[in-house]
Amino acid sequence: MIRVTVWYEYTQEAGIFPEHLKDQMPAEEFENFKNFLNTCKDKIKAVYPEGVTGAVVNHLQTCEDMKITHVNQYMDQCGLPDELLNNTDVLIWWAHVSHDMVPDELVKKIVERVHRGMGFIALHSAHKSKPFTELLGTSGTLKWREGDFCRVWNIHPTHPIAQGIPEYFELEPEEMYGEPFDIPTPEDTVFLSWFRGGELIRSGCTWTRGYGKVFYFQPGHETYPTYHNGYALRIIENAVRWAAPVLWRTDMTCPNTKALED
Ligand code: ZN
Repeated sequence: MIRVTVWYEYTQEAGIFPEHLKDQMPAEEFENFKNFLNTCKDKIKAVYPEGVTGAVVNHLQTCEDMKITHVNQYMDQCGLPDELLNNTDVLIWWAHVSHDMVPDELVKKIVERVHRGMGFIALHSAHKSKPFTELLGTSGTLKWREGDFCRVWNIHPTHPIAQGIPEYFELEPEEMYGEPFDIPTPEDTVFLSWFRGGELIRSGCTWTRGYGKVFYFQPGHETYPTYHNGYALRIIENAVRWAAPVLWRTDMTCPNTKALED
């Protein structure tokens, strides 16, 4: 049984404003941002009544080889107390507007557990999340534009994550994320997405960190129905099985964790 924890930021839907951002931007920009979040709240609920990750959780719960726990950052200990993290085989992360609210101490624990063998799947706007950027060592920045027609090409059909996925499938709309995407060269690029504006992005990428596997999947904007698309859900399901630990490293003082502490 693969123990999957789906971690969801929940800031926008809960109507919780990341007040700490007030110090990081001009007052007018902050007010605009607050208004934007307010608008998002209703739009998200219309598309995902059970939360953005609710649709992913509902799908994964149909997989008999998985046990799913759904948490969010407003739960105790940012949703990931040690007991849960230490009993997670694959961690799925969806976050958008409050990455910096995740404590560095928790990020270190996540990175260390990946090095020991845990799988980590970063979805969509988690490209800027702390665990993802710490694992990769790059900024995760990319080009951005609002919704457009998107064609997701399966460019590695023999990869385990691509099983059951046709040569391409289409999402309309999906948020445009484009190259240059600041990531280390992936071990495998499984999907490559093309947008009507002509942009491209490596939209399904894999890396290994220590004994753990990392997958990034670009589609999944909170106000678009991407996680109701059967192919997107199948990719996440495949990614969970691919990222499930093969072997736990038990002898470790994690070198990377040491580096983070220095
Ligand atoms: Zn988005």
